[in-house]
Formats: sequence, structure tokens, C-alpha cells
Amino acid sequence: MHNKSLSELSSALHNGEFTSVELTQHYLDRINAHNGKLNAFITVAEEHALAQARAADQRLQQKTAGKLTGIPLAHKDIFCTQGLLTSSASKMLSNFIAPYDATVVEKINAAGMVTLGKTNMDEFAMGSSNETSFYGNVKNPWDTDRVPGGSSGGSAAAMAARLAPIATGTDTGGSIRQPASLCNLTGLKPTYGRISRYGMIAFASSLDQAGPMAHSAEDAALLLNEMAGFDERDSTSIDKEVPDYSATLNDSLEGLRIGLPKEFFSDDLDPKIAAVINDAVKMYQSLGATVKEITLPNTGLSVPTYYVVAPAECSSNLSRMDGVRFGHRCENPADLDDLYNRSRGEGFGEEVKRRIMIGTYALSAGYYDAYYLKAQQCRRLISDDFQQAFNDVDVIMGPTAPSTAFKLGDKTDDPVAMYLADIYTLSTNLAGLPGMSIPAGFIDGLPVGLQLIGNYFEEARLLNIAHRYQQVTDWHTQTPEEFK
Ligand code: GLN
Repeated sequence: MHNKSLSELSSALHNGEFTSVELTQHYLDRINAHNGKLNAFITVAEEHALAQARAADQRLQQKTAGKLTGIPLAHKDIFCTQGLLTSSASKMLSNFIAPYDATVVEKINAAGMVTLGKTNMDEFAMGSSNETSFYGNVKNPWDTDRVPGGSSGGSAAAMAARLAPIATGTDTGGSIRQPASLCNLTGLKPTYGRISRYGMIAFASSLDQAGPMAHSAEDAALLLNEMAGFDERDSTSIDKEVPDYSATLNDSLEGLRIGLPKEFFSDDLDPKIAAVINDAVKMYQSLGATVKEITLPNTGLSVPTYYVVAPAECSSNLSRMDGVRFGHRCENPADLDDLYNRSRGEGFGEEVKRRIMIGTYALSAGYYDAYYLKAQQCRRLISDDFQQAFNDVDVIMGPTAPSTAFKLGDKTDDPVAMYLADIYTLSTNLAGLPGMSIPAGFIDGLPVGLQLIGNYFEEARLLNIAHRYQQVTDWHTQTPEEFK
């Protein structure tokens, strides 16, 4: 059962080959058998899942079921789920039972899908290796001495080990695409505003965006159909029609114009990664695409710009966690200041504190113009580069990550080395553009992702470009031996 695509699962459920309860139990059994090795889940919602599965079976019987009714999934622990722990992998929220569902969860529930549990992540989504979680590291199913990537590392590991048929993630600077690359998945970060952020615990509000983490573009399209759409509860949600992302998957790639930014293929790029990406590009040429070198001249500004904007916004967003209204509260506070200081001091981990301090500094009087304002100006330059490029090309391709999965502990003492793991993904978020990572090959048994970047609201085109590649390659179908 766990090697089937969403369409295959859907047909089997609709034809009565198995019930949603049986399918859900199968995945719960797999989670029980394997999660101990991977630490991919913070919460396994057994009872909740079986109750949803029973309701789905009723809909299937009554013929009121939709395409995804009865199919299980895993949610990153950043989405509020009513009645279940929603921790954002922080001690600060380790006692937070969400009183409502995030819009994404509400929509997915309405489609009749079954929530298996909540996946591990970097604390408040800050990280590239899933090593900042209060709940411990997640291991990469391709090699359990290595990281799965972050921050959606739990969703990625759960998917790679086939503990869920599909999962949600969020991407502020690469957190869907980079773990997808390191775990051999198809991950899509849509255009900013395409999916509601309501009920998604905020990290950096102008960058955060939810998306699907899947085994194929076909599966990602099916989940995106349910996730996307306007929500009046999110002021940056965009009121624009949602196309059927499955309808155009098979469109021809004849004449597709691919741009390869020279800044992504500089001498700094590992030649082995470059070789994998070049092979993928050649495959696209054989499918009818043309290739052109382009330039995104301000690419070098993306890491410094992101690491001013994201901490600034996180310092503001996380100020609501003060030990008063919800979340961790220290014991026996002497006075109000002590309550704030100790609750926050105890509740936040090291990386989160580092970012709050950087962000508070960058936003403070006297420094705002020098840092935050300057970063916003750089952000505009980065966006303009992309718009210039999209005058000549339809899609931009390059590596998703500068390396394959690295060893646990390798970068934990060097925050800057860790920040560089997102060097190819950050600019997409700064510009608000959609980006994808798809499996493109292996180096020494470890997966490598190809990144696709499209213009605003070109998700359907990206999924089509990914799907055509997946019809002629089988990288995306590979599963680590132990989890077959
Ligand atoms: N790794 C980046 C960071 O640490 C991006 C994280 C994300 O996309 N949530 O901020």
C-alpha cells in the first residue's frame, strides 16, 4: 500500500479494495515500527486519525467522497490542529493544544484526508538540518548518520521512509525545497499569498509559505488543489482563481525556455552536483526545451538580506510568546519582568534566541535604516533580477542545495555554514516566487535535487515541467532499502 501514488490510493479506496481505516492503520503501523529510528514525528495522532478514517469510509460508502478522501497525510508541527499539540518544535509551545485549525488543515480536513500526526521540524522553522528542534534531531532515511535537511525535516524523513503518502511543509527560505532535495522528494513552495498563512505559526511573515512535500509532481498537484486559495483571514492571501493543477501536467515542453543563472553554476558549485544538474537539463533538451545562460546579478546579496529580514520579522512575531497568554511559563516569577525574562529564556532554544537578538538589533532606532531598510532595498534588487530574467525565459533551473545530506553535528557549531545551506533557495522567497525541488540523481547513494523557479503564479507550469521529467526518469521512485 505504501508505494502507491495518491491517484492509485484514491482509486483503491473508491473501488473498495481497502478502507481508509485499513490504509490509515497500515501507516500507523509503519510509523510505530520506524519512527524510533528517525524521530520524524512529534505527535502520532492515532485515535484522531482512525476517527477521521472512519468518517472518510462513510463518505466513500455514501458516494460523497472527493479525490483525496480517506488518504492519510502528515502535517508539519507548525500548522495549528484543533485538539492536538502544535509545538513548532519549541519548548515554548510544548504545552500548546491549538484551539482551532489552520486554514490549510481546515481545507485538507474538508477534503476528507486523515491526519496521521505532526512532524518534527527546526524550532519555529529556523534551521536547515532539523537539529534545532526541542524534540531532538531527525535522521535522514537515506543514511541515519545524516540530517534530513530543514526546517521541514520531519515531513521529509516521514515521506522518504514512506511513513505517510504525502505531507505538508512550510518554506521561509528553503524549508520545503532543501529537505526535499536531501531526502529525494518533490517539494513545492508556491507563490507568496497562494496558500493561506492563517494558523501557521509565524516565523517571517513576508516570506513564509506552505506547500506540499510529495513523491511526485502528480501527487503534489493533487494536494496543492486542496491547499491553495484565498482566505480573508490572511491579509496577504491573494484573491485569484485556483486552476486545476492536475489538468496541465501533461502539456508539452516543446519550446520551453530554460534559464541557467551563471551565479548558480560558479566555480563554487560542487562538480558532482553540477554534473547531476547538467544531466537533468540535457534531459529537458531532449524533451524539446531550449537552454540559455542568464544572470541574476544580485544573487550574492540573498544570504545577508535574508538574515536581516527573517530575524527582524521573527523578533516581532515571537514577542507574543511572553509566558502570559499561552505557552511555557517559568515557575514562581518574582515580578512581571522576571516572568517575561525567565519564560522566554527557558522556552526558546539557542538559534531562536540568536535570531531574536539579531532582529531586535536590526529594527532598533538608529540601526533600522542601516539594516532593515537596506535589506528591503536589496530585496527589491533581487526581485528585479528575476523579472528581468523572466523576460527571456520561462523557467529558471539550478541546484536546490550546495551539497547532499551532511552528517549530523557537522554544522551545528557554525551558524554561518548552516545558513549557506540555503544559498540557492533564499532569493525565491525574498522575491515571493514559486520554487520546486525534484529528485534528479544520487551521489554516493545520497539524493540530489534539481530546483525549478517560475514566475508569479506559475505553479501549474512548474508542476507540468516536473511531471514531464518524472515520466522519463525514475529518480523520484527510489526508496531507501530499509523502508521499501
Ligand atoms: N534555513 C533557513 C533558515 O534557517 C530557512 C528556513 C525556512 O525556510 N523555514 O531560516
